[in-house]
Amino acid sequence: MPSSSKLSALLKVKISPRGAARLKAGHVWVYRSDIVSAGGVAPGSLVSVSDHRGKFLGTALYSSSSQIAIRMISDEPVRDFPALLRQRIAHAIAYREGIVHDTNAYRIIFSEADFLPGLIVDRYNDILSLQILTQAMDADAVRQAILAQLTDQLHPASILERVDPRVRELETLPPRASGLLHGDRTSTTFTMNSIQFRYDALEGQKTGAFLDQRENYAAAAQYAHGEALDVFCYQGGFALHLAPRCSQVTGVDSSRPALEVADQNAALNRRESVPEIEWIEANAFDLLKDYATSNRRYDTIVLDPPAFAKSKRDLEAGMRGYKELNLRALKMLRPGGILVTCSCSYHVSQSTFLEMLASAALDAHRTLRLVEVRGQAKDHPILLSVPETSYLKCVIASVSL
Ligand code: SAH
Repeated sequence: MPSSSKLSALLKVKISPRGAARLKAGHVWVYRSDIVSAGGVAPGSLVSVSDHRGKFLGTALYSSSSQIAIRMISDEPVRDFPALLRQRIAHAIAYREGIVHDTNAYRIIFSEADFLPGLIVDRYNDILSLQILTQAMDADAVRQAILAQLTDQLHPASILERVDPRVRELETLPPRASGLLHGDRTSTTFTMNSIQFRYDALEGQKTGAFLDQRENYAAAAQYAHGEALDVFCYQGGFALHLAPRCSQVTGVDSSRPALEVADQNAALNRRESVPEIEWIEANAFDLLKDYATSNRRYDTIVLDPPAFAKSKRDLEAGMRGYKELNLRALKMLRPGGILVTCSCSYHVSQSTFLEMLASAALDAHRTLRLVEVRGQAKDHPILLSVPETSYLKCVIASVSL
């Protein structure tokens, strides 16, 4: 098909003045409630977006079911979407070359933050793990272009797709199993900050590692000392980084499969000079309560819970959860102790998180000094005009009294 006819084939979606104002402010989403007309537009198609008067605003990906009906991909007409995709993937890869160091595991493509809404690609050494989150990215021609660019440029041993059934249901996409899209390797080891990790795509929790914490692991290790407790340790990300700096390290998680991988990771990094890490399968809230009442003391505590506030509605309950955890941890820290406390809830802003921490410190009769206020690793870029791309908070604080 000649490109001009492809262009003329794009259907138009008209949006409300409120939707247009949002785009003008630099955001890339338009909610369904701001769609004025989208007659005949097929799920997942490329559309031409205009304001209520018919003025062209740009080209977008359309979802027929998500509350986010429109995700802008360009403020210009797009003639060849697969070609644009390939170019954007190349740019995302090039961007990492400048900002990612000391690792062969990092996020290569982070959806909107790389101008590829609905596509996430992580690299674990020679394996790529891909997630498709929208109707548009799930189209056959789009998938083919993504795979072609990733294999041409990175030559991975394999590419795996990780499917979240809930996402496919929300996008009204047919069910699909997680599995290989290219090559046949499903496990490997990767290295970050000189620590080795196992990656097994088809076993355990199938989630891979929390790559967004990579730089925070290294930061935390700088201040860690003495006896350390890594709460919500998953496969040992923080614990393994703290071990070379500490006299004793304990990791706590409620997931046995995660702790099994943590133990394998510990074996990969075993050195005579590094203390052996103890892994405890437990509910973190119960364990912290027990430890606090039995007067256990630590010099370093990491808190990296799952998102407690997944939506705005959960915010209040979520903040109570964060406060309880932080309060208990602060009570257990010795003077001079280090608290590394995280939240991956987008709905909890950095200032709300710091206010919670201040209030927990007051209640625990502890004085805290902020050592570092950090966010997600640079391979998870933050697009300033799209606040939703910034979600991780990691505060490192020192207990002075
Ligand atoms: N710190 C980890 C990531 C933590 S993800 C890293 O850097 O890799 C959150 C973890 O919390 C998951 O491993 C999950 O199994 C665990 N978890 C969730 N609820 C829990 C609970 N109530 N008690 C203990 N662990 C819990």
